[in-house]
Amino acid sequence: MLNTNWFTEIFEQSGSAFSLQIKGKLFEQQTAYQKIEIFDTTHFGKLMVIDGCVMLSSRDNFIYHEMMAHPALLSCTAAKEVLIIGGGDCGTLKEVLKHHTVEHVTQVDIDEGVTRAAEIYFPELCSANTDPRATLLFDDGIAWIKNKAPESVDVIIVDSTDPVGPAQGLFTQEFFSDCYKALNQGGIVIQQSGSPLLTPNEMVEMRQAMRAAGFVSLQSYQFPQCVYPSGWWSATAGGKNINLSEAANSISDKLSFDTQFYSVAGHHGAMVLPPYLEKLLNEN
Ligand code: SAM
Repeated sequence: MLNTNWFTEIFEQSGSAFSLQIKGKLFEQQTAYQKIEIFDTTHFGKLMVIDGCVMLSSRDNFIYHEMMAHPALLSCTAAKEVLIIGGGDCGTLKEVLKHHTVEHVTQVDIDEGVTRAAEIYFPELCSANTDPRATLLFDDGIAWIKNKAPESVDVIIVDSTDPVGPAQGLFTQEFFSDCYKALNQGGIVIQQSGSPLLTPNEMVEMRQAMRAAGFVSLQSYQFPQCVYPSGWWSATAGGKNINLSEAANSISDKLSFDTQFYSVAGHHGAMVLPPYLEKLLNEN
């Protein structure tokens, strides 16, 4: 919803909304998959919106992208082969490529329009796209992963839109089973799992789907993300024959580059969930 000077995203199910003051709309494209819009805001830089839902702003995307990339990559013994499903704005890709262990990253986003728009309006996120270790593909990640060779990836990061439209199948047991097959022993899948306050059942359902797909060790964690519903977000990781809480104890000497939000102490803190959430996740 847009009135003269504000972009507003309404979260009907929680009776709440989030607004940013804007200077104007810079871009709009209806692709075969979704409607992409870019706004210029007064205080948050550029804002990308897909089908009316906020994807990212220049000002705070570093939090999300660092927290999607670094916890899993540092927890993996040596992440060499990485797969990103979604992630068309390329912010997560940029963070992944900071890891010297990484030999190759494949990014599979269904919509080339998102990447082309990001190249123009978020060039700082696309600066690593020409890294020879990166391959950018435009395809449906749900179908694509079915043909991925078994035991050929160390980390899979699912950086998708919310579970509606083309992303719906990225939250299912069938998809996580395909991830499980594609992962090496000791591999990790990670997916954004919604707001711990407004949609904790999304976390529950994702964990159930991951568990049913064979992931024995699960780890949900939290971080702030002010442009997303409630301003508080989560991600959930599943480990293939790796204990994620033990793996988190060996990350301290692996961080070899500067970050803005991620820190080793913060990594441990992010894994500490509030008691109501621990209880909910343990009971389900
Ligand atoms: N995490 C951000 C959020 O929740 O707002 C999402 C950022 S990123 C722009 C999300 C990407 O997921 C989009 O570029 C979209 O095209 C992609 N996507 C959605 N469904 C997909 C699918 N089935 N396969 C691959 N990419 C998909």
